[in-house]
Amino acid sequence: MRYFFTSIVVFSLLFVSACTNEKPNSHSQLQKKSQNQKTHENPQSSQKDLHNIEKMNVSKNRNAVKTVAQPSAVNVLVNKKYFLPKNYVPKDLVYPTVSFIFKEKIEKRKMRKEAALALNKLFTGAKKDKIYLSGVSAYRSYVTQKAVFNRYVKEDGYDNARKYSALPGSSEHQTGLAIDVSSSTGKCAAQSCFANTKEAKWLQSKSTNYGFIIRYPKGKESITGYKYEPWHIRYVGVPLAKQMKKRNITLEEYYNVYPVSK
Ligand SMILES: [Zn+2]
Repeated sequence: MRYFFTSIVVFSLLFVSACTNEKPNSHSQLQKKSQNQKTHENPQSSQKDLHNIEKMNVSKNRNAVKTVAQPSAVNVLVNKKYFLPKNYVPKDLVYPTVSFIFKEKIEKRKMRKEAALALNKLFTGAKKDKIYLSGVSAYRSYVTQKAVFNRYVKEDGYDNARKYSALPGSSEHQTGLAIDVSSSTGKCAAQSCFANTKEAKWLQSKSTNYGFIIRYPKGKESITGYKYEPWHIRYVGVPLAKQMKKRNITLEEYYNVYPVSK
């Protein structure tokens, strides 16, 4: 039994949230993240898949971390291993017409045009099913992420900051294609308790109809490198979203580059 609980604690430490920039409450959460876990490409990757990802999105870099070649591709892969180019800013950011849990017209309300239009449709579709949603946080610029990260480095040092905050360039929110969604009340916004809500269940079953995927699904933590985030949806377009749902795969599996760690 003790082993069981120890496993849960260790497991939750390995996979931090992709969305929040909040510092962990307990100092112990800053410790003990496995330093030995290595990221490597699946040795069974087919040449076709690798060729595809390199051609479509990614240019090979000298190091383990790679920079995506086509950051504006709707199917772009961004994670702890595949970074957006420094200072990439989408050219077509707009404000979706849906409601957010805040009133201000600020950066985190923005999305890329195609994703914003799809989001509007998703919220309308949800409303027809009597599911009332709100946006929590969408676009986050490289500059914002860098400022946040640097502040934490100042406070806690680089190694600790690295454990709870995404490096600038590695956040999917910088694509303008991802958004955290909650119920209209904002209850459990970007928190694990959101998983049990009817809004989360609706997103799980219906979002692919609008071109969105649950980017960090339950049971795929060791593949994506992030804990289950039922609130973080990512626009990839309807055909790809449906294909991924049918095959029950993540973007890492689609491109055959996993697992992702650190
Ligand atoms: Zn998110």
